[in-house]
Amino acid sequence: MSGPLELAERFGTPLYVYDLDEVDAARRELFAALPDGFELFYALKANPHPGLVRALREPDPAGDVPACRAEISSTGELGAALAAGFTGADCLYTGPGKTPGELREALGAGVRTFSTDSVTDVRHVGEAAVEQGAEADCLLRINSATASATTAIRMTGTPSQFGFDAETLCEVLPELLRTPGVRITGLHFFPLSNARDEDSLIGEFRQTIALAAGLSAELDLPLRFLDIGGGFAAPYGTAGARGRYPRLRGALEDALDEFLPAWRKGKPRLACESGRFLAGTSGTLVAGVVNVKTSRGRRFVILDAGINTFGGMSGLGRLLPVSVRVGTDEELEPGSLVGPLCTPGDVLGREIGLPPLAAGDRVSVPNAGAYGPTASLLAFLGRPAPTEVLVRGDEVVSVSRLEYHRSYDSRPRPW
Ligand SMILES: *Cc1c(COP(=O)(O)O)cnc(C)c1O
Repeated sequence: MSGPLELAERFGTPLYVYDLDEVDAARRELFAALPDGFELFYALKANPHPGLVRALREPDPAGDVPACRAEISSTGELGAALAAGFTGADCLYTGPGKTPGELREALGAGVRTFSTDSVTDVRHVGEAAVEQGAEADCLLRINSATASATTAIRMTGTPSQFGFDAETLCEVLPELLRTPGVRITGLHFFPLSNARDEDSLIGEFRQTIALAAGLSAELDLPLRFLDIGGGFAAPYGTAGARGRYPRLRGALEDALDEFLPAWRKGKPRLACESGRFLAGTSGTLVAGVVNVKTSRGRRFVILDAGINTFGGMSGLGRLLPVSVRVGTDEELEPGSLVGPLCTPGDVLGREIGLPPLAAGDRVSVPNAGAYGPTASLLAFLGRPAPTEVLVRGDEVVSVSRLEYHRSYDSRPRPW
């Protein structure tokens, strides 16, 4: 008796439930889809809950699935990674706007690997490292000139704040190699998220590997580490299953044999990244129906959870709509699923199929384990953050809630 709806009886709504067994299963699947020796970075932005992150840091209980490393992009995520038991050395610190202050903090915590996006970024890493008597490994993030896959979210091939433009890297590389305090150790790619299918993922990875090998050879660029990014898919607030990649392992091995033949000897070391695939399917959001009303012939189901709870990254223009279930398969009728906020933008689904619902009912949103609370407009309109419950099978592991408060500390924060 510990399904999400039963847990909502105990802990109230809105309630997130994350099942760690499901996180383990996703990690096992993803490692199995990659060639032996690949490292896997968990992108904390998908879900920085320390208990969930800890599950990914620990080797599988059966001992045959490696631990993940951590991909972080802020001091908050650094704190979450450390709280989950990662060391600084386990972390890859990414992002186009790393400030000198956060670099200092990251280096102080033992972070030594940074993905860098510009000459200034590399210089900032070097300056912070020199200041601390350390040397930092910098991966150069590459914004390749072309792109192959079709995806919901594309971050490359166009002008971007991310990465070095591949075609002009040669102009700045000598300066990068001379920057005090840093060693240029390899390349980082993250061209897409949530790939449409296995073929697009394979196509993109093949292109990435070819480009990395080409750049390294043409520019005499050190390539000790190559992070080829991700794109592993998971449903988001709708029914469905994680992406399946039965051919990926073989395709990656072929591409690596062709372009980087020393890879089996660890030259270079290789890595992938994932957020949503690892965390997304572990989570369920349970919301309460506060009210059902009809306006000019249209039905509105008003929940206690809106874009403040499951934002759908709505501020980023990523539209849901979500699907909700009550338990059984009722006839669906059109209606709009909205949240409690005083803005007409608080819509989780406009004129979608909804079961018959009344005030006091509870609904569950499947596959809500990634880009949940921390991707939402948490503070907007001041409602409390949702409760988050971690379970492992039938056992409740932890119950917590994010809190925010106003601080009147007027000292400037380190920049
Ligand atoms: C967001 C992000 C990820 C995770 O993306 P998912 O689609 O959740 O797997 C991985 N790497 C980087 C650099 C990111 O910015």
